[in-house]
Amino acid sequence: MAVFKPENVEDFYEIGEILGSGHFGQVRLVCERSSRTNYAGKFVKIRKSACSRLGQDRGSLEREVEILHLLQHPNIIFLKDVFECRAELVLILEFVSGGELFDFIAEKEVLLESEAITFMKQILEGLRFMHGKNIAHFDLKPENIMLSDKSAPNPTIKLIDFGLAHRFLPDEEYKCSSGTPQYLAPEVINSEPLTTAADMWSIGVITYILISGLSPFQGDNDDETLLNVLATKYEFYDQYFSNTSSMAKGFIDRLLVKDSNERMTAEDCLHHPWIKPITRKQMARRNRSSINMKSFKRFNARRKWKMSYNMVRMCNRLFQACKGRSDSDSLQRQCESDVEDTETKPASLLRRRLSSSS
Ligand code: ATP
Repeated sequence: MAVFKPENVEDFYEIGEILGSGHFGQVRLVCERSSRTNYAGKFVKIRKSACSRLGQDRGSLEREVEILHLLQHPNIIFLKDVFECRAELVLILEFVSGGELFDFIAEKEVLLESEAITFMKQILEGLRFMHGKNIAHFDLKPENIMLSDKSAPNPTIKLIDFGLAHRFLPDEEYKCSSGTPQYLAPEVINSEPLTTAADMWSIGVITYILISGLSPFQGDNDDETLLNVLATKYEFYDQYFSNTSSMAKGFIDRLLVKDSNERMTAEDCLHHPWIKPITRKQMARRNRSSINMKSFKRFNARRKWKMSYNMVRMCNRLFQACKGRSDSDSLQRQCESDVEDTETKPASLLRRRLSSSS
């Protein structure tokens, strides 16, 4: 069992504004008192008993921490410290000030494929490192791809949220049906044994969206989306892909492959001509092709709207659950997982952890 610092985090860090919220808690800006350096503190409630649905179980938090300790790479969020205080765990993470990559891109008027590739390359480098250690992220989506500092000339990608990540032991058979429908690989939906290749499917979906502003398998509801993924039918519609290079389409085609053994690995991707052109002609094609910004902006605006909508819904449920309680301090740090979910939900495990942007 991992031992975390038993001291009160507030003795070492000043707790500041909320940076974001997840299913299991809040992420807040924290400032180390001794160095005056900013970090992000991820506050997660620990589940009290196995039958409770409140908070996250200690075992999975320990796994997330162990994995983060193993992943020291410039494109992966760095974990500095972990505190355990009362029934709460606080992960002190490197502060990522540049926001989400998709928001950064959506602010632009024009983006060449070659510029988008500089970000893709960093994501793939982070993944190559992670997969080289037999660790899969299993929750790759735009919300989990951030930028360290967007005012820098070449902002650095940081992959965040290792809550679903898994480290494979030799010959281990691992299954998991959690994630966000539109980014899930078919083998996840089918509850088949998983490998790091599931992440590569998500990279295929993210690249398709980045280029066109369309989500390849998005249906009118989650069930429809999951069926679309299983059918693995997608197209490069002319009206959305008119400025896309054939290399970009070829890159996506090598990732959105149903058979996970046939998919490109992160290493393969880094050698694909779209990422690493060999000829001048290939290089020139990337500089002539561009992202469909109009459609991308629309996708991102809708994504943000859905996130806000889900946040309001979550707050309403919290408010209902806390009505009558006078404990305002604990209310401040509440999260969705603090509320026993009384809604009737379909049996599908997938629905237990639908993303805020699903
Ligand atoms: P989810 O419900 O998506 O699994 P979670 O509870 O695991 O979320 P995170 O995804 O790690 O939490 O963080 C939630 C949000 O907090 C992020 O979307 C991001 O906006 C913000 N955030 C997380 N880590 C950092 C960081 N290191 N620096 C700045 N902001 C961060």
